[in-house]
Amino acid sequence: MIKILANDGIHTDGILLLEEAGFEVHTEKIPQDQLGKKLNKYDAICVRSATKVRKDLIDLCPNLKVIARGGVGLDNIDVDYAVEKGIKVYNTPAASSKSVAELTFAHIFSLARGLHISNRELPRGADFKELKKQLSKGFEVRGRTIGIIGLGRIGQETARIAVALGMQVIPVDLIVDEAQVDIELYKPSEVKLNLKLETVRMKEMLSKADIISIHVPFKGGKAILGTEEIGQMKDGVILINTARGGAIDEDALANGIATGKVRAAGIDVFMNEPSPREDFLNHPNISVTPHIGASTDEAQARIGMELAEKIIDHFGAL
Ligand code: NAD
Repeated sequence: MIKILANDGIHTDGILLLEEAGFEVHTEKIPQDQLGKKLNKYDAICVRSATKVRKDLIDLCPNLKVIARGGVGLDNIDVDYAVEKGIKVYNTPAASSKSVAELTFAHIFSLARGLHISNRELPRGADFKELKKQLSKGFEVRGRTIGIIGLGRIGQETARIAVALGMQVIPVDLIVDEAQVDIELYKPSEVKLNLKLETVRMKEMLSKADIISIHVPFKGGKAILGTEEIGQMKDGVILINTARGGAIDEDALANGIATGKVRAAGIDVFMNEPSPREDFLNHPNISVTPHIGASTDEAQARIGMELAEKIIDHFGAL
């Protein structure tokens, strides 16, 4: 029987699908330092970001045939080495796009009305009337212009929500020139809106957007948005990073907020995860979440099902 180790967990829908197809699934976590001894009993390992599958572990597991990553990033896996050793590597790039786009808007709405401040300050005993006064300068999202950097899967989902909210969307992308964005109204309505979005140059977007959200891969190096780019933005711009820590330079962001150039920021991903810089954590102009872009039941169910389908396709139903 084919044995699968889901070392960072897998949604029950995925487990059911695998078990129905005749696979044995183990979900008890094996600590990283013991994987070398135990992983070779398995034919496949499913991971999220926590478990690392590096060259030394791969060398200890000649029986391993599949590494399946729930999510997009493959930075915790030595993919080239695995492939060289004949191990197939799968991921689920599309499964969490809607959830990440919705989190982007959770931050935008929070910053628009100061929800993050209310949720911190009211339980601390803040004066109700004082807080009401402090939060009296909220803004409506409808009618605002959002710049989207990266018109891929998540960027397009973000655009879809923005358009439906009555925002103007100006996307930027290295490769994509235009994208057709469908907006399906909630059933039983059959109405479907279709919109063509054309990308513009970064400089144009930076000078026009009220809110800028990043949705590109980032593996370190020069930030996508640093001091120079922030300098070209409108005064009082709002920045959202749900992509990867450092895609917005954190020092440049802190400085932009200190000078008032940047009104506020929503951050799901940090340079120093899991210990983000302290000055961001309690900052009234920063809404923070602990890298939860894909952490919805729907996304995890889609990830689990997609991984299960890929593993079943790989080995064939038993
Ligand atoms: P994607 O590959 O579908 O789209 C990325 C787009 O960005 C592509 O169209 C590409 O051409 C464009 N691009 C790349 N570099 C660029 C640059 N420098 N300037 C402008 N455009 C550029 O990726 P996706 O599925 O939309 O995911 C985007 C990123 O979101 C992922 O790489 C990942 O880092 C992040 N993500 C975060 C979470 C989370 O939990 N917060 C979850 C999933 C994905």
